[in-house]
Amino acid sequence: MPTTPVPSTRAPALTERPGSALPVATPSTTPPGLSGLDPAELESWFVEHGQPRYRARQVADALWRGTATSAEEVRTLPADLREALGRHFSWDTLADTEVRVTDGGETEKALHRLADGALVESVLMRYPAREGRRERNTLCISSQAGCAVGCPFCATGELGFERDLSTAEIVDQVRHAARRLAHEGGHLTNIVFMGMGEPLLNLDRVLAAVDALNDRRRLGLGARHITVSTSGVVPGIRRLTGLGPQFTLAVSLHAARDALRDVLVPLNRRWPVAEVVAAARDHASSTGRRISYEYTMIGGINDTDEDALALAELLRDEHAHVNLIPMNPVAHTPWQSSPADVIERFAGRLRAARIPVTIRRNRGVEVGAACGQLAAERAGEPPVASVARRRERLVRESAAALRGERSTDEAPANTGEGS
Ligand code: SAH
Ligand code: SF4
Repeated sequence: MPTTPVPSTRAPALTERPGSALPVATPSTTPPGLSGLDPAELESWFVEHGQPRYRARQVADALWRGTATSAEEVRTLPADLREALGRHFSWDTLADTEVRVTDGGETEKALHRLADGALVESVLMRYPAREGRRERNTLCISSQAGCAVGCPFCATGELGFERDLSTAEIVDQVRHAARRLAHEGGHLTNIVFMGMGEPLLNLDRVLAAVDALNDRRRLGLGARHITVSTSGVVPGIRRLTGLGPQFTLAVSLHAARDALRDVLVPLNRRWPVAEVVAAARDHASSTGRRISYEYTMIGGINDTDEDALALAELLRDEHAHVNLIPMNPVAHTPWQSSPADVIERFAGRLRAARIPVTIRRNRGVEVGAACGQLAAERAGEPPVASVARRRERLVRESAAALRGERSTDEAPANTGEGS
């Protein structure tokens, strides 16, 4: 279980103010995010405080469709109610956001500072309408500040685990991008949980966030337009299977053989690749939804013919699709992306085994749109000696893995089964 306390999405303890039906918050912590409450919770808050139910609907409309930046600006509500909402809840849990634009305006990377100073990021990727395809706007969001899994090619893994995000902190990244798009008459068409963090280790809040994104009264995005990516938290995958189709599940593989995957995705030491694929297979057959497997291409590490054949063997007869992702550069690793011709050859091997495969193009490399990079920049450069030691260790570990030797290290801490 994650050890860091997280802000509750429920209202803090309330005390009645003499002469008013409206409550007063105890002024201890940052108020919880209003967007993290579901419609029933919001309604009961109003009913408990002597207000009509329809107020909940007005607030949800203002949160998800309006332009208000605080409860004070919601003019459909009476003044004392605006004031009480402002006192008890945060209208927006993102204290500050810096947006960097690249790819000729097609990629926007937003770095968000949360109330306690934690930094997370979201990336908006615009795909203009072309060749009969409608315009698409995909937002990549974070589910945790940092990540405990510690994949060495990932900038978030480099940061380590800071804390889980609350439901409101997850959906407020979406509200922020939706507002930016609405200014130009656009809207979000897809959301992927592929930013910072391991969503299946913060599953309760991720599920509540998906509910909000799905709900017609809130964002109203269909389940088919939402993808959640996991590095292979088997109990979380099994729990999702029990819930039925909620979204597309993506599984980050990066290696088909345990010795190498132990190094690239340290969670593999707890849930080995065959168990991950078995859980994903059950998910696909029970929900009827194809699994999307992610495979980051790292030059000379996981991109050989042998790797392609092992992957083809692992996914034989699976209801699956493979995305090959050229590795985005990350400062503290000794590795780089495989060259384009090697990626093509790898894809060809998979296609020959009748596995559907797509080669993804890098987005926003110059603004660090790989997982976690802007936040890593802000965290400051680690001392040169520790970078050198880390690189040496990775070279040593990957060389041993390529010889087929499995590491005896334990799975990383803070990667319990999640909630
Ligand atoms: N923790 C989840 C979701 C966030 S990471 C997971 O690992 O699936 C989202 C995707 O970005 C993963 O497939 C991850 O492997 C990939 N990724 C991370 N760092 C990368 C890099 N430097 N280059 C390319 N892809 C990267
Ligand atoms: Fe965490 Fe995913 Fe990055 Fe691995 S790739 S460290 S699981 S965010």
